[in-house]
Amino acid sequence: MAEYELVVRARRAVTPDGVRPVSVAVRDGRIAALAGLGAPLDAAEVVELPGQEVLLPGLVDTHVHVNEPGRADWEGFATATQAAAAGGVTTLIDMPLNSVPPTTTVAGLRAKRAAAAPAAWVDVGFWGGAVPGSLPALAGLHEAGVFGFKAFLIDSGVPEFGFLDAAHLGAVLAETARLGALLIVHAEDPAVIAAAPGPSGRPYAGFLASRPAAAEDTAIAHLLAAARRHGARVHILHLASASALPLIAAARADGVAVSAETCPHYLTFCAEQVPDGATEYKCCPPIRDAAHRDGLWAGLAAGLIDVVVSDHSPCPPAMKQRESGDFGAAWGGISSLQLGLPAVWTQARQRGHDLADVVRWMATGPAALAGLPGKGGLAPGHDADLVAFDDEASFTVEPARLRHRHPVTPYAGQTLTGVVQRTWLRGQVTGATPAGRLLRRP
Ligand SMILES: [Zn+2]
Repeated sequence: MAEYELVVRARRAVTPDGVRPVSVAVRDGRIAALAGLGAPLDAAEVVELPGQEVLLPGLVDTHVHVNEPGRADWEGFATATQAAAAGGVTTLIDMPLNSVPPTTTVAGLRAKRAAAAPAAWVDVGFWGGAVPGSLPALAGLHEAGVFGFKAFLIDSGVPEFGFLDAAHLGAVLAETARLGALLIVHAEDPAVIAAAPGPSGRPYAGFLASRPAAAEDTAIAHLLAAARRHGARVHILHLASASALPLIAAARADGVAVSAETCPHYLTFCAEQVPDGATEYKCCPPIRDAAHRDGLWAGLAAGLIDVVVSDHSPCPPAMKQRESGDFGAAWGGISSLQLGLPAVWTQARQRGHDLADVVRWMATGPAALAGLPGKGGLAPGHDADLVAFDDEASFTVEPARLRHRHPVTPYAGQTLTGVVQRTWLRGQVTGATPAGRLLRRP
């Protein structure tokens, strides 16, 4: 029997020590060794990547709304995880809301696991939810293996997942600090939004004005102050407002354990380009102007934003209200699980970043955020989750080729650079069977 089940030889691989030629030797689904390109290795199968392909670690997407059970007509595990594999994402962490029941109880977590187990084409873990009244459930969920807790500071959009006011937030932070758990937060301030004009009709400018950057900045300031008071670890979800970055920098300098993410759509699009009535661009917080987009890129470059994850949040096409184009009535959410890597790479290379940066934002960083040892890096001991990526090839996004349950996307027709040629999950090429595992916080 061969010493290794698989060896992948790549002239370029993004490793923790930089981009270099390596042979990745896989045993029992794990990376057993990184050897030189020509090293003699006894393997059952050898794959030699063509020169135009670079080997990356499988991406980790910590912000995915799968919606099953309960709203599987929005998205389900089989479709979401196949889209993930096609996009080079080998691990996803599912959000606790939009499914019914939400993951706010251990029973809810069990229902999620039962739905995911037979249908996971990549590895799947779960966030728990912190909602009013759920405080007593947090310890049990933590014990049951959720990776942390998600909370909203504003209406979540679904009635079964309430939001935390200041008093609830303080109580939840005290509990997550006691548990040593991470709280991940949708930070928009309801009072600022209540004082803004409501969204209605087709103008994108109207929708944007209804959810101003000040709503994010105010909510983040409150969150950081509360995290400091309780000594709690917090993560800011889907940052769209670059004006919040100085708040994050100041809190870090003051010792607050805060991390932040942004999403491919905030790094790709800007408000000036969104046509009126184009509700496929609606998400919350909204895609802001080009100055915010530039600021978010600067935040990534400065290390103030740690990770880039999809916030894949689908709904049935009718809920997008594309016929009326009414931004007030449309569901907010953009699905990009399959497109995140090329979308980010397309912009990153134009702004002087390299693939090592992209891997840090989309693989290593998210794995560290969730506390996933063995994911997000090409290193011995890690799972052999690998992506062969042609970083110079380009393609035009055709919705019909997306494996998400619903192909509605603002990326339709866009030309993106970077093609995922093949994805391996623990040393097996994805696509033959739903070989994903369910992950628990270690
Ligand atoms: Zn989300």
